[in-house]
Amino acid sequence: MKKIIVAIDGHSSTGKSTMAKALAKYAGYIYVDTGAMYRAVALFAERNGWITDTEINENELKKHLGEIKISFKPNDKGEQDTYLNGENVEKEIRTLEIGNVASRVSAIGFVRRELVRQQQLMGIEKGIVMDGRDIGTVVFPNAELKVFVTGSPEVRARRRHLELIEKGEEADLEAVLANVKERDERDSNRKESPLRKADDAIVIDNTHLNMEEQNEMLRTLFHEKTL
Ligand code: C5P
Repeated sequence: MKKIIVAIDGHSSTGKSTMAKALAKYAGYIYVDTGAMYRAVALFAERNGWITDTEINENELKKHLGEIKISFKPNDKGEQDTYLNGENVEKEIRTLEIGNVASRVSAIGFVRRELVRQQQLMGIEKGIVMDGRDIGTVVFPNAELKVFVTGSPEVRARRRHLELIEKGEEADLEAVLANVKERDERDSNRKESPLRKADDAIVIDNTHLNMEEQNEMLRTLFHEKTL
């Protein structure tokens, strides 16, 4: 069977990563969570004190960008954990706060260019499922399968809220909804590679779909492209 590139983009908290992971496992493909890469950069900047409520110290971030090494390694459960300079930061990068900083950091052109370069290298041999915001538009404009996932903000916030609670984190539904809307707004309106559907992407609106239905749809699309 021929190997392809699968690009999965869409709004925050649509379950993109979950469906991308499931497809990668099913197809025996590499899975790359590009959101985790922006989150790792955000954590690095935050730890160095370069982030305030209103500003990012872009000069320092630019100077030290080359020191940020991001990698992925499977854990005991076979899931991929994110490493920042050799340290497992999987738990730390998943907070609402880092999600928010990531969406601010990801609006910076030099950050995007560097991460896009690394992402393109990862896909050179194909056989990859990558999820993010600009995969079908910028990272792999020639990807054989492009999917754009969306859903109502309320449903997305409810799912994300549940996920945080299940992980034992404190979360308030209203705060999660505000976070989802704020990130949508910022991701869609930024100057650098704003979130938009690629012209040839297939839309999956999962407001009324459960995870299994969504996975099934993606598998069907995958088979159509690899036949
Ligand atoms: O997907 P996730 O929510 O983990 O991504 C965190 C943030 O990183 C997003 O809100 C978005 O602003 C940014 N991002 C991006 N481009 C990508 C992946 C993520 O701008 N390819």
